[in-house]
Amino acid sequence: MSQAKYIFVTGGVTSSLGKGIIAASLGKLLQARGFTVTIQKFDPYINIDPGTLNPYEHGECYVTDDGPETDLDLCTYEPFLNVRTSQANNVTTGRIYNNVITKERHGEYLGKTVQVVPHITDEIKRNIFLLGETGQYDFIITEIGGSVGDIESLPFVEAVRQVRWELGANNSMVIHLTLIPYLKAAKELKTKPTQHSVKELLSYGIQPDILVCRTELPLSMEIRKKLALFCNVNINSVIEAIDADTIYDVPLLMKKEKLDERVLSKLKVTSKQEPELEQWKGFLGKLKNPMNEVNIGLVGKYVSLPDAYKSIAEAFIHAGSQNDCKVNVSWISSEDITKETVKETLAGLDGVLVAPGFGERGLEGKIEAVRYVRENKIPFLGICLGMQCAVVEFARHVLKLEASTTELNPKTKHPVIDLMEEQKKITTKGGTMRLGAYACKLKKGSKANHIYGDTLIHERHRHRYEFNNKYLDQMEEAGMKAAGINPDSGLVEVVELKDHPWFVGVQYHPELRSTVQNPHPLFSKFVGAAMEHKKNSQ
Ligand code: GLN
Repeated sequence: MSQAKYIFVTGGVTSSLGKGIIAASLGKLLQARGFTVTIQKFDPYINIDPGTLNPYEHGECYVTDDGPETDLDLCTYEPFLNVRTSQANNVTTGRIYNNVITKERHGEYLGKTVQVVPHITDEIKRNIFLLGETGQYDFIITEIGGSVGDIESLPFVEAVRQVRWELGANNSMVIHLTLIPYLKAAKELKTKPTQHSVKELLSYGIQPDILVCRTELPLSMEIRKKLALFCNVNINSVIEAIDADTIYDVPLLMKKEKLDERVLSKLKVTSKQEPELEQWKGFLGKLKNPMNEVNIGLVGKYVSLPDAYKSIAEAFIHAGSQNDCKVNVSWISSEDITKETVKETLAGLDGVLVAPGFGERGLEGKIEAVRYVRENKIPFLGICLGMQCAVVEFARHVLKLEASTTELNPKTKHPVIDLMEEQKKITTKGGTMRLGAYACKLKKGSKANHIYGDTLIHERHRHRYEFNNKYLDQMEEAGMKAAGINPDSGLVEVVELKDHPWFVGVQYHPELRSTVQNPHPLFSKFVGAAMEHKKNSQ
């Protein structure tokens, strides 16, 4: 298409309705028709990025190839669309203001009073158009975080109104996602909150083109008519989004409701083909009717909030389906693991993943978990902090060193995991870790080399501490091999154990590159190893 079309997704009534999933599902359907699509998210908070947020506040932080720490919604976009995202795909209020204030200091608005309208809204619009201007996409789907009516999201909503005014109805549209609550006592679905939410949107000058209605029960024709009449949309633009078993059902549910057709017709785009979803359906079929089952323990610090490890959980879903295997993930708090409890806590698991994380809390528990799986030959995958724990554990119990990571004990006698010199000078927190994709060379014949089927890989990072190469020779001699090295810095990226059926620690985050179409090989093979372990121990 000559010009990109812009689709905005707003939310009303409550938060957490799944705007990201609706956006990703629509993206998937358009992509499956042969169009090129990308999705971006605007977050109305003042942090420049979510990197400094506690996972309990905001879930995990997602890192893109080019380095920025971004919103978790990107963890739905990439796995659904199988296209890489970047900084431009996630913009916060903080970043917008930061850009405007930096420009002001550089004198770009000389003589002018800098204001929300037009300066902030212009900066928002500049960011909306950034992806479209690359010429790479037919559709840009922009999700506006928060709910309509929130004070914080007002400048974004105003920018959307201006974009619609500038581009016209054939080039831009608004999908409004709302909730249709069911009142048990009245045995009725209620449309009033949606009517109010649309009224609110109208008061900002935006008439939504399509309503997507989250609901526990199917929407009757009568309810659809009511919504259409009072919210001023066509009746076939009232789309039911019924609660689904898994987020991966949503593209098919949206297809059934003809969301993609409505979008194309509103934007006057003709489509040459019906969505080609065979692979997606195959994935879903295996996900829902697996032949096998394994139990994997995820040992982490933030286990009471599943969103804190969302991309790991999703990577297991992708890998499980590929292996025709249901992966039951048990969330285990590392603080509950001690020498005394480790055996009973990890009993019956076919594999253990020690999760990424920050700070001292729960670290000894993670180290204890690694010791148990190393000694008992249970498949192990250590990610980032999990890999660092594996290195500390090996140094302590095999090399018999009084070792630690300086994150846990800055005065340790043997800092086998330590800060790099350049990290030691950094005192600010936001965006200062080793972030984004880095190259890694895998040693020929290593397990990692077999797993990837390649010798040069690129994986995403988010950490400060590193394997201390001073200890590399000793470690290798004792059986912990550096299977992957960064070719530029010589930093160790992958460790493996010689005498263990499946023990891999990676300094990077493989979960961030797993998609439905391309499950990550490390997760896939780890699930395979867990299946093997289960078979052998029966
Ligand atoms: N806290 C460790 C570091 O900064 C590990 C980080 C992580 O697991 N993402 O190096």
